[in-house]
Amino acid sequence: MKAVRLHQVGNGVQVDDIPVPRPTGDEVLIRVEAAGLCGSDLHILNGRTPLPHYPRVLGHEIAGTVCETGPGSTGIEAGARIAVNFLITCGQCRYCVAGRTSLCLSREGLGIVRDGGFSEYMVVPERNLIRIPDPVPFRHAALATDAFATSLHAISKRAQVQAGEGCIVIGVGGLGLSAVQLLKIRGAYPIIAVDADPKALELAMSLGATHSIPAEALEDADHPAWAGTRNAVYALDFVGRPETVQAATRLVDRGGRVVVVGHSPHSWNTAAGSIMVREEKTVMGSYAFDKNEIEDVLGFMSRGLIDVDTMIGQVIGLDDVDRALATFGSPGRAPGRTIVEPAADALNEGDVLFAEEPERTMS
Ligand SMILES: [Zn+2]
Ligand SMILES: [Zn+2]
Repeated sequence: MKAVRLHQVGNGVQVDDIPVPRPTGDEVLIRVEAAGLCGSDLHILNGRTPLPHYPRVLGHEIAGTVCETGPGSTGIEAGARIAVNFLITCGQCRYCVAGRTSLCLSREGLGIVRDGGFSEYMVVPERNLIRIPDPVPFRHAALATDAFATSLHAISKRAQVQAGEGCIVIGVGGLGLSAVQLLKIRGAYPIIAVDADPKALELAMSLGATHSIPAEALEDADHPAWAGTRNAVYALDFVGRPETVQAATRLVDRGGRVVVVGHSPHSWNTAAGSIMVREEKTVMGSYAFDKNEIEDVLGFMSRGLIDVDTMIGQVIGLDDVDRALATFGSPGRAPGRTIVEPAADALNEGDVLFAEEPERTMS
């Protein structure tokens, strides 16, 4: 079968012909129907997220069809349409027991520590499968498993956004755009999108943001773009650089909560301790999601509450993953998520993926 593997940091990925894996124990063999390409894949590619073993099949936002069940799997049948929770957790450590599975002490990510979904087939433990409701297409379900679930975790479990309260969303790439939609479902108001890319801001406004703020206004609370935004209680930072975390901390209201989802190796140095104390501001991290959050997102999708198609920039085959990763985040790339469909015909040079596209510096 064809699989996109990273052999070595710095050399891009390549399409290899490897054997179809066999499911053992409680594993299930799935045919990958759609897999999202994520900013985390770029971190893996350039070595910022080193992997314990190479070569590795990348791809962790996965939806597919069950082909074959292992001897120990009991609750799923061949032909089932499923989304994959890429975080394999132990179920036994104190975090798993407490329901905070994203903090599992021995978590292993598919597409990171184990082979992932940029391939025709893969094996997944049965407990990591979630049935896809009938009306939800595979490519939407793939985005439910990370882009949406990660945002939902930040909004509901970490920030605990309440209806009628305002939220600033810094960086409206894939995760930021999903956050805007989930905030709308939750009744947040206003929903204030911040990005350097006017096209991304336009997209955010079409998906439910009530205000759009150019990135340069982040440093300037008196910038006219902030007019009418009232005092936001929450900020979600999908960029995670020291300057964005600092700006978010300054911008949230007294008692406000800043939730940082974007990764950065730098210290945040948010604000003087006396301000943090007297204004009771909180800055916290948010990582991944719990399985039930994927189920919640699939529920929103099946009820038509989320516009996923507008968020999909392009659909490519396995042969084009290397080019898509090489152009990720660079001028000349379309806004929105890239979906890899192993069955899709490879695109030709000059197709939509490489058309003229805006520069993105915020996400
Ligand atoms: Zn991801
Ligand atoms: Zn655990």
